[in-house]
Amino acid sequence: MEATCKTLADINKKLQKGQALVLTAKEFKDLVRAGNRPCVEEVDVVTCATMGVMSGTIACLNIPITEPGKFCVAKEVYINGVPAHPGPAPNERLGNVDCIIHGTAHSVYDHNYGGGHLFSDMVSRRPFDVEVISDAGAKHKKTLTLDEIPFARLQGTRHAFKNYNGFVNIKQKERSYSTIFYFKNMQGTDGISVAGCGELNPLQNDPEMQTIRMGTVALVNGATGIVIGTGTRSTPKKPNLSLSADMFNMDPRYMGGFKTSAGPEILNSTALAIPVLNDQILQKMVKYTDENISIPIVDISDRLMVGEATYADVWQNVDLRVKFNREKCIECTIPCPVELLCPVGAYIAAGKKWFADICFGCGACVSLCSCGAFSAKMGKIKLGDREYPITFRQSDRKRAIELAEIFKQKLLSSEIIL
Ligand code: SF4
Ligand code: SF4
Repeated sequence: MEATCKTLADINKKLQKGQALVLTAKEFKDLVRAGNRPCVEEVDVVTCATMGVMSGTIACLNIPITEPGKFCVAKEVYINGVPAHPGPAPNERLGNVDCIIHGTAHSVYDHNYGGGHLFSDMVSRRPFDVEVISDAGAKHKKTLTLDEIPFARLQGTRHAFKNYNGFVNIKQKERSYSTIFYFKNMQGTDGISVAGCGELNPLQNDPEMQTIRMGTVALVNGATGIVIGTGTRSTPKKPNLSLSADMFNMDPRYMGGFKTSAGPEILNSTALAIPVLNDQILQKMVKYTDENISIPIVDISDRLMVGEATYADVWQNVDLRVKFNREKCIECTIPCPVELLCPVGAYIAAGKKWFADICFGCGACVSLCSCGAFSAKMGKIKLGDREYPITFRQSDRKRAIELAEIFKQKLLSSEIIL
């Protein structure tokens, strides 16, 4: 029997005629897990997504700051206190400044605020304060909103890793480590921190990048963007992506700042559609369910592997969100450790306000509140003969599911073509 092959043009035609079958990665994997084997003739596209801490992020902005002729060279630029790098192209004589900001840059005024928070504030249309110090030492200040600047583009230099590592502190238990991989200094008594959206991750579904390449359309933080190519530190075994999109259409729900014990980090999201062109592509998607995707567990002290689990340990039979029982919050301490350390600021102890919509599902509050006000089934990982609880998740599987659905709807309505 001849193998079925489709082209992108075939799939686009089917999409336009309303005849294409588009599944989200969750729908597809649920079918596979239930024992079904979809074939190439049946499925045309599978939409995939991931959301989590993705440090390799920069934004390139053009900021109109003064009338032309007020100064010549910008020496320092701060936006909401977050330092930016002036340039690369000089425009300052015209009164505006090109600059690049790292998503991992930290505010000079607020140790809990960084580039990720700034980008999210900008996209939310909150006013932001710009301060430019010229080579002559003059300070120029202005408050702007995103719609008042002509150019704002975000670039992922290393996004959407084909899954990641888990971290634990078992070798140097007496030491505690300040790390971007934990919400507080990681101690020997802490559990395991995990990252990666498992079977929903785009590169996990097209690991050889047969369909994901330069120019492939993507949703970057909810906005239509493109894949530029592979990112820094990408290898065939562990690929990641470089992506780009205008910030004007981004959705703050799918990006933001994220507090860790090593300072503020940045959350981003990527959604991609994998066209099912042939059986080889389909079989990869069938093969990689959470149960078959490894997550190496490394020690925080030296990053060397101390064990291995699968993403089924991380994402199957667990709660994607915590439950909050306000009766159990007895306002035990001031400040409340949950309020202090929740990476996205989803809890305010005064008035017991939990913002379910902001919650990222990381699970930190479950171990932080000893009164049991927060609960969630978070899973366990066995290392040697001991089971360790998963106490922190740096990826948001719930929002990844949402993003894959958003991409699916955009394809079905022809808002995006492949
Ligand atoms: S730690 Fe728990 S009980 Fe104590 S104030 Fe915070 S949420 Fe309430
Ligand atoms: S799970 Fe808890 S700590 Fe994590 S974001 Fe939600 S409220 Fe904050």
